[in-house]
Amino acid sequence: MKNILLTVPHSKCLGKKDHICDYLAEKAAKSLHSKLEFSILILSDVNRTFIDYNRKKSKNTKWRENIRKIILSKNIDFLIDVHSFPPSSESFGFFKKDNETYSSLPEIVLLDSYYDEKFLDRSTSIEFNKYLLKNNIKSKLIVGGDNDITLDGRRLNIKSILIEYNESLTSQRLDYINNIIIKYIIKLSS
Ligand SMILES: [Zn+2]
Repeated sequence: MKNILLTVPHSKCLGKKDHICDYLAEKAAKSLHSKLEFSILILSDVNRTFIDYNRKKSKNTKWRENIRKIILSKNIDFLIDVHSFPPSSESFGFFKKDNETYSSLPEIVLLDSYYDEKFLDRSTSIEFNKYLLKNNIKSKLIVGGDNDITLDGRRLNIKSILIEYNESLTSQRLDYINNIIIKYIIKLSS
């Protein structure tokens, strides 16, 4: 089995209604963690209003340094950066442009970075997206964002993906999706 690192940079909520944290990310990551014996889970300790750990500018914070230390010292093979998005057509400018409606929103968005040309290899996200679609999960790969945690993983030669869960997923559906994700990880290591 692979050694998996699960990072949740926007898990720290302040209890308000606006989207200043990822409401479903912690639950989704804890579910993955409980299903993956050799996984390490790192939740955020600060709300993103104060520090957005997923950005380049937070690269030298203790939290980010710790992630790089874990990747190097724990023999990590695969990094999953876990996020969630609110179920509205405003999520990701992408949807408005394509004139998509609420009901057509994906269950899962895989967000890949557009910057840092040296580390733009998106093959893991592309393959993972295909796998989810094949298993009847409404997944969409979107390129955009300053996803510096997954880029850090790639800089250290670790397969790294960023998963955004739709926050309107039921517990049952979340469980189904996570079981498929686990299957994929097991497939990778076999
Ligand atoms: Zn997030």
